[in-house]
Amino acid sequence: MIDLHTHSTHSDGLLQPAALVERAAARGVKVLALTDHDETAGLAEARARAAELGIVFVNGVEISATWDGHSVHVVGLNVDPGNPDLAAGLEWLRAGRRRRAESIAAELDKVGIGGSLEGALAHAANPALLGRTHFARYLVERGYASDVAAVFRRYLVAGKPGYVPHQWADLEQAVGWITAAGGIAVLAHPGRYRLDEAKRDALFAAFKQAGGLGVEVVTGSHHADQYPLYARCAQRFGLLASCGSDFHGPEEGRRELGALPQLPAGCTPVWTRW
Ligand code: AMP
Ligand code: MN
Ligand code: MN
Ligand code: MN
Repeated sequence: MIDLHTHSTHSDGLLQPAALVERAAARGVKVLALTDHDETAGLAEARARAAELGIVFVNGVEISATWDGHSVHVVGLNVDPGNPDLAAGLEWLRAGRRRRAESIAAELDKVGIGGSLEGALAHAANPALLGRTHFARYLVERGYASDVAAVFRRYLVAGKPGYVPHQWADLEQAVGWITAAGGIAVLAHPGRYRLDEAKRDALFAAFKQAGGLGVEVVTGSHHADQYPLYARCAQRFGLLASCGSDFHGPEEGRRELGALPQLPAGCTPVWTRW
């Protein structure tokens, strides 16, 4: 049981790293990566608890990137969080998040939703890493939507109140920082990006060109009918296959820890590299 994509309170997850590891272990996970957005501060705590519980821990991160105007995520696995290139890149991304958060709050102000910067910060255990999920939790708290998923249908996305376009890292930067830190760059949940087939193939080609080595095939963000589709993409582009729940918390799950199916036959798993 392998889960290579999870979040803690150091980004927009709801469990502290140690509690996340405990939940994963209790649900039968044997190999776990913590992959907080643009942040590695939770890795030491998670690694220590994983050692106590006898599960294999993989240092991870999920880097926010922009490719051809689309927001895409790149997971880094087995990264050295002390690498200066990676650390500086992530710090730059977090600073951009803070500026974006101020703009999001200003946009929400325009539709009569006040106090959202403070409100989002109250939901962020790590004030250095502010994301839309923290705003979403504030909007739920204030009764603007019934849950976080409902917020993302009505706010914070293109064309809706509270949306702010943002320039993240280039694909080349995101992959480069991961590679510099000794890690394997994995394209996260490709099925979530709204791309037609030609654009999707162009993204895969650009990712590969930038030095990307893997792609998430089985993820909590994919429907079951997308697993074989992205398994074929992995094979066509010569990419290793990864799997991860993208777990954020017990109450906000798309997918629970330790509940993913096996990779489809024919995939070369990313963990064959370690
Ligand atoms: P950010 O990186 O701050 O732009 O926020 C992206 C995060 O918002 C993702 O990692 C998810 O945790 C969350 N998110 C985005 N879209 C949705 C959605 N439709 N439903 C629930 N959470 C979402
Ligand atoms: Mn998230
Ligand atoms: Mn993601
Ligand atoms: Mn994620």
